[in-house]
Amino acid sequence: MEIKNCKGCNRLFQYIGGQVLCPICRDALEDKFAEVKEYIYQNRGASVADVSAATEVSAKQIKQWIREDRLVLSDPTEDGITCEKCGIPICSGRFCEKCRTAMANEFGSVIGRPTAPTIDGNRGNKKGNKMRFLS
Ligand SMILES: [Zn+2]
Ligand SMILES: [Zn+2]
Repeated sequence: MEIKNCKGCNRLFQYIGGQVLCPICRDALEDKFAEVKEYIYQNRGASVADVSAATEVSAKQIKQWIREDRLVLSDPTEDGITCEKCGIPICSGRFCEKCRTAMANEFGSVIGRPTAPTIDGNRGNKKGNKMRFLS
């Protein structure tokens, strides 16, 4: 068993894998999360700065929730979060749509490479046969 100081209130608490906050602060943070989520729901288009000012939650914390896909901004804004790959403003997560697609394709092409030409080849053959039969 490991005892640590809570990063929020400095109380000692039983440390469980990766947690930096005591159960009391974690609960308080979850309450704040609900508040932030509600605010974003009520104020579509609110920027991170707006949300931070209205809910008294740090912009850093809000951005972390967005990165974790727990919150989604209605509009990608400069002061919000940006794609970790190309840097354009995004609504949630770590990467923009384009980079996610590019990465998925990169990943897919490695696995799909041996099968892809076969499918094309089959299609070509069928077409070729048909034309030969017709003539
Ligand atoms: Zn605490
Ligand atoms: Zn990107």
